[in-house]
Amino acid sequence: MTDKSDEYDALVAEKMQARAERHVRENQVEHDAQVREAELARAVQARDEQLRQQHLSEMRVREVAAEARRNRPALIVQYRADPTGVRLVATLRDVCLKCGSEQVRCLSDSLPRKLVCPDCATKWTASACWSCATGLLDSRDPETPRCPQCGWSKCAVCGACNPQGCSTNTYNTGHRQRDEVMA
Ligand SMILES: [Zn+2]
Ligand SMILES: [Zn+2]
Ligand SMILES: [Zn+2]
Repeated sequence: MTDKSDEYDALVAEKMQARAERHVRENQVEHDAQVREAELARAVQARDEQLRQQHLSEMRVREVAAEARRNRPALIVQYRADPTGVRLVATLRDVCLKCGSEQVRCLSDSLPRKLVCPDCATKWTASACWSCATGLLDSRDPETPRCPQCGWSKCAVCGACNPQGCSTNTYNTGHRQRDEVMA
């Protein structure tokens, strides 16, 4: 009788143990599912946020472009009267100051970047400085005029003109103002 009772107790204990282990497994599975769900929700949220930011930055770019277009006529009048600093006005780089045409054609994308107005045939060059990388050049700007020796616009920041070298300065592609400063 004692034996039978012990056997029974052992059986009960075994069943309880098995049930406890099953609960642990079930809880683990449920927990894993919750973790996966949370990760998925975070991923979706991150993607939505990224799309929102992308949309916002596209809107800002469009607004800036629209603002520039709105301001353009006034800027054309202003810089036609005095082109000093026109090299710094991005929205006028590809606009003819003489007649206001916005259908300007680029004759060559290699430096110096040559532009021509199809309406009045005015030609100019506008680009970033090859030497110092911060200077902007525009042959219409009296602060970056064409060098009388080589014909390239002279940078107001570093003084470079022709990348092949020019008798008016020591800068060429192998010896830039930037290299000199860093040396
Ligand atoms: Zn023109
Ligand atoms: Zn420069
Ligand atoms: Zn020169």
